[in-house]
Amino acid sequence: MKTNESSFPFGAVGSRWRLRLAVLIGVMVLCATQVEGAEPVYVVKSKDTLTSIARKHGVSVAALAARNGLQRDETIYVGQRLVIPKQSAAPSRSKPELPATVKQSINSAPVKPGRWRHIVIHHAAVRKATLKALDRYHREERHMENGLAYHFLIGNGNGLGDGVVAVGDRWKKQLDGGHLASAAQNKTAIGICLIGNFEESRPTEKQLEALEALTRALMSRCKLSVSAVKTHQQINVVSTRCPGKYFPTKSFLNRLK
Ligand SMILES: [Zn+2]
Repeated sequence: MKTNESSFPFGAVGSRWRLRLAVLIGVMVLCATQVEGAEPVYVVKSKDTLTSIARKHGVSVAALAARNGLQRDETIYVGQRLVIPKQSAAPSRSKPELPATVKQSINSAPVKPGRWRHIVIHHAAVRKATLKALDRYHREERHMENGLAYHFLIGNGNGLGDGVVAVGDRWKKQLDGGHLASAAQNKTAIGICLIGNFEESRPTEKQLEALEALTRALMSRCKLSVSAVKTHQQINVVSTRCPGKYFPTKSFLNRLK
């Protein structure tokens, strides 16, 4: 019996689709990450570990292992297909970045090894301020010859832009701080001041992001761990409310971990 496309249209279309499907599958196999249903599938490559794959996709190792019925320390093999679980309701937050000019100021300062032991957070206790105004105040009213008592300021949009990091001379020249009651602590503590009065209101989200980015950069530059980061209240030898009751100390320190 003579067969042709016109007499068997469905069979002919079917074989063409099968061919296209085979090509499509071939292409998909070449891709490292494919989407299967709602969740992407990752094909394990040489040198991959569960941890590296989890990190790459922004999921926890525990969630990745559980989704694939694996133990956290189980060995995986090249070509193994792993389903990447959907992230939980709270998506992993990307780390805030500092502007290149601030990074440059941090990295180009002549930091001596072991010079700094703490990073201390303050509020200005005023709603509005600029670097120039605080510098003049510390120089003229507080009689500090090196001016601005802090190494860094972070603006709130009143005087200095919201989330803007201003680098003080004490950082650029690697001078002692003037922000703590103890002279000994001022020798080893970097001071960061957020403009605003956090006895009245919270810092802005941009300030907290800038503070996180700045603190991370300083921890890295000065080889310090999270335990070196303190609020003024936590480190001062004299009782103080700084940086104010609305400064979110606990959640901020958790961000750094
Ligand atoms: Zn303070």
